[in-house]
Amino acid sequence: MQTIRHFIDGAFVEPASGAFLDVYEPATGTVYAQLPDGDGDDVERAVSAARRAFPGWAATPAAERSRVMLKIADLVEANLEALARAESIDNGKPLALARAVDIPRAVANLRFFATAILHTQSEAHLTDGAALNYTRREPRGVAGCISPWNLPLYLFTWKIAPALATGNTVVAKPSELTPMTAHRLAELCAEAGLPPGVLNVVHGLGPKVGAALVAHPDVPAISFTGGTATGAAIAARAGPQFKKLSLELGGKNPNLVFADADFDTALRTSVRAAFANQGQICLCGSRILVEQPLYDRFVEAFASATRELVVGDPFDEATHQGALVSSQHLEKVRGYVDLARAEGGTVLCGGERPGDLPERCAGGWFLEPTVITGLDAGCRVNREEIFGPVVTIMPFQREPDAVTWANATPYGLAATIWTRDLDRAHRVANQVQAGIVWINCWLLRDLRTPFGGMKNSGVGREGGDEALRFFTEPKNVCVKMRSL
Ligand code: NAD
Repeated sequence: MQTIRHFIDGAFVEPASGAFLDVYEPATGTVYAQLPDGDGDDVERAVSAARRAFPGWAATPAAERSRVMLKIADLVEANLEALARAESIDNGKPLALARAVDIPRAVANLRFFATAILHTQSEAHLTDGAALNYTRREPRGVAGCISPWNLPLYLFTWKIAPALATGNTVVAKPSELTPMTAHRLAELCAEAGLPPGVLNVVHGLGPKVGAALVAHPDVPAISFTGGTATGAAIAARAGPQFKKLSLELGGKNPNLVFADADFDTALRTSVRAAFANQGQICLCGSRILVEQPLYDRFVEAFASATRELVVGDPFDEATHQGALVSSQHLEKVRGYVDLARAEGGTVLCGGERPGDLPERCAGGWFLEPTVITGLDAGCRVNREEIFGPVVTIMPFQREPDAVTWANATPYGLAATIWTRDLDRAHRVANQVQAGIVWINCWLLRDLRTPFGGMKNSGVGREGGDEALRFFTEPKNVCVKMRSL
């Protein structure tokens, strides 16, 4: 049994309470590690360490911060296989996916922000030759970074990398469901020579550790990725203290397939967009809208491709779909399949526990990829985030209907459009309410672009300059040069 500890002030320490929680392997349903049941006392200790480390780290030249972060990235890359295994065990995702996507993208996050700080521009404005205004951007202090379980190391690094690069110190809280890769990263940070207190990792439950971090008066910035309800609770708590908030929340993303689309590519990518990571990616295309002439052909081919997906042991290289992250989450997702039936939908395939799982996975939390038709845009299944391997397909006759239905949820994170008509592609992209719109592709990311959601999908944007700005406080200095 492995035991995880907090990482505070450069050392691995016991929780103040002495209490630990179980960490489960979703593929087997068994406990495989222990996690500190952290609380406000641990957060206090971590924030104090981060405050002490702040002046030194903020004053460290950007080139030196960059060097240490690039060293961390190199160590993550050197440990790719072990980290991918840890993430697969923690999360239930296929090892092949963690190896190909999650861990390499974590390396990319670290390298991107470690080098971005070497190329930033500072702003200066001459005011009629009479004054010079220049803008300093200073790190805010101790940043609180709270991340979810679905892409554990990728989203953890997505937050801590820009915070550290810009000279902040960090208290980070990974999800209690998937803590292992953040724990391993802390080890690698120590090995890379990151000074004590610059990154602190406090483990435990959201309402205890996360809430204490959000409420702490010495943490002026909170970067959070997770569910919309949690985001609302954080905003309510942080708002009266005027904390800087970045909230990356849920999604219910439409995938619009027009009749002139490249059928094979649209089909193949739509299956991936629906079920990658067991549908547990905030950007998954979980509502597919298909233009009527294509509808029957698309539905038949989509269901057939879905039946081909192999659900099984995440360690098996042939597996496309692993386990869902927890038994509670599995029950929630299954509840939506029941709701779909109650709302008049037809389950074309999936919806059940796979019958042919290997013995090791007998107690695991698996669900067949599920395709549902026959529901309208206004029903709960089509409006609420399910966050599992469940997708709905519905037909549309006219482009304006497709746009209306695409927008008919409280969310606005991502959308995908499949068409060969360039005018339509831009027209629809303009009308769809989403922070990112993919045209004839999905999940293609450029780290320089702003990332985030409209409506209930969040507040603020991350990525590129947006992240560098979020973690720094602008201060304008106006110098008089001559009388006006
Ligand atoms: P969650 O909101 O339950 O938990 C996220 C993190 O917040 C965890 O570390 C948790 O411990 C912590 N937390 C829980 N309650 C808290 C509180 N009261 N105060 C402070 N912290 C608290 O989300 P989850 O189930 O881990 O993740 C799934 C959700 O995340 C989905 O809704 C998904 O769409 C969303 N998500 C969004 C993005 C994005 O970029 N927009 C990316 C990935 C996941």
